[in-house]
Amino acid sequence: MRSDLEQALNKKLETLYKGKLHARRDGDRVFLEGSLRRRKGIVTAEKRARRILRRAGFRQGALVNKIELEGAVIPALGLPEIRDRSLEGRKPDVLIIGGGITGAALARELSRYRLDILLIEKEHRLAPRDSCGQQSLVHSGADLKKGSPGHRYTLRGNVMFGSITGELGVAFKRSGQYFCFSNPLLVPLLYLSLGYWKWLRVRGVRVILKRELRRREPRLGGARAALFFPSAGLVCPRDLISACAENAQENGARISLNTAALGFTLREGRIVRVETNRGALYPRAVVNAAGIFAGDVAALAGDEFYSIPERRAPGQDVRESSRRILNGLSRPRCGGNFVAERGRRTLNLIHAAGAGYPGLTAAPAIAEDAARLTLEVLEELGLEPRKNSAFNPLRRAKQRPRTPGTPAPPALKVPAEELPPA
Ligand SMILES: Cc1cc2nc3c(=O)[nH]c(=O)nc-3n(C[C@H](O)[C@H](O)[C@H](O)COP(=O)(O)OP(=O)(O)OC[C@H]3O[C@@H](n4cnc5c(N)ncnc54)[C@H](O)[C@@H]3O)c2cc1C
Repeated sequence: MRSDLEQALNKKLETLYKGKLHARRDGDRVFLEGSLRRRKGIVTAEKRARRILRRAGFRQGALVNKIELEGAVIPALGLPEIRDRSLEGRKPDVLIIGGGITGAALARELSRYRLDILLIEKEHRLAPRDSCGQQSLVHSGADLKKGSPGHRYTLRGNVMFGSITGELGVAFKRSGQYFCFSNPLLVPLLYLSLGYWKWLRVRGVRVILKRELRRREPRLGGARAALFFPSAGLVCPRDLISACAENAQENGARISLNTAALGFTLREGRIVRVETNRGALYPRAVVNAAGIFAGDVAALAGDEFYSIPERRAPGQDVRESSRRILNGLSRPRCGGNFVAERGRRTLNLIHAAGAGYPGLTAAPAIAEDAARLTLEVLEELGLEPRKNSAFNPLRRAKQRPRTPGTPAPPALKVPAEELPPA
C-alpha cells in the first residue's frame, strides 16, 4: 500500500518528468529512482524532490537519490582476485573499510587509543583512485555554501593540514590561491567582497593589485587585480595517504590490501560478521570509508540514507567535462557528499564518506569526527577505549625520495603571514 507522501511525490514527478522518475518509500527513507539524460538534471530532480518532501512535512527522514545517468555504465566494484582465509576469524575492535585519505587518516586518529584496528582496502595499494587521482589542492573553502557540511569540514580540515603534514613529514605548501580579474572596474567590488569572505570564515583574504600581482606571479599578464586566498595550499595526496597509513601502523593499526568487504551479517541491528575475500571478520564496530563506494557499502548493511552521485554518473557528462576527466570520473561539484554519521539502522556502523569535492581537504576533520563516533559506539558496546600511551604522532618511517638516489625534499617553509590563525 503506497503512503500519501509517496503518492503525492509520484504525482509531482509524473508531471515534471513524464514517467521517467518515481519515488519509493521505505520507512523513514524515500528512494528516488529512474534515469535522466544529464547529470545536472539528476541534481535538480533531487533538489525538487527534497522541496516537495519538506513541504509535505517529511523532515526527519532521508532522501536517497538513485537516479541513473542514461547511457552511463556504472563500473562494477572491482574485486581482488586473491581468495584465501588469511583473515578468517579475526575480531578487530574497529574494521575500517576503504584505504583512501579518509580511511588512512581515521586509522591514524584511532591509533591514539589502545584498540585493535584493521583497515581493509580492496585494491593492491592504498587509494589508487579518488584520493590519489586528484589535483592536490588544499582548499580554502571559498567556493562552498556557508554552513554546509562541506564548508565546515573544509575550513577545519584546511587548518589541520599544517600540523598533520608537519607531524608526518609530508611536504605541504600554503601557496595560496588567486582569483584573477582583468576588468579594472571590478576593483572596488573586490574590496567590498572582503566582508563576504569574512562572513564565510575564509581567513586572510586580500586584494592584490596589478603591480604587486606582476611581482608575485609574472605570468599572470592580463590580470589587473586578484583576490588572494592565503590558506589554500598544495600537497601530494599519495605521500599524505602513505604517511597517515604508515604512522597508523607504527602505532599499532593493521592494514590489509587486496581485501574487499563483500557482505554483512546483521543481528539485532548490528553487524556481527563481515564477509571478505580473505575470510570472515567479526568486528565490534565497522567504519564505512569507501569513498564513492560508500553508498554501496551502506546498502550492504541496509543503512543507505545518503547518495553518492559521482558513483552513478561516472565521467560521462560531456557538457561538464570541459573540466578534467580522470579515472573515469568527472570532477565532482564543490560541496558534495560529506558524511560523518552513525548508521541510522545499523548500530555499530559509522559512515565516514568524504566522497565529495574537496574531500582531500575535509578528510582530517571527517576522520576526527568519525573517530569520536567510533569511540562512542565502542563505549556503548561495553569497551572503554584507553589512550595509547605509546602513540607517537611523528612518523618514524623515512620519507621516500621521489627519484631513486636523491634525498627527500626539505620541509617547505611557509611565510608566517600566509598561515591562517590557529
Ligand atoms: C578528479 C578529482 C579531483 C579532485 N581534486 C581535489 C582537490 O584538488 N582537492 C580536494 O580537497 N579534493 C579533491 N577531490 C575530491 C577528493 O579526491 C575525494 O573527495 C577524496 O579523495 C575522497 O577520499 P576517500 O578516502 O573518502 O575516498 P577514496 O579515495 O575513494 O577511497 C575509498 C577507498 O575505499 C576502497 N573501497 C571501496 N569499496 C570497498 C570495499 N567494499 N572493500 C574494501 N575497500 C573498498 C576503494 O578502493 C578506495 O580506495 C577530487 C576528486 C576527483 C575525482
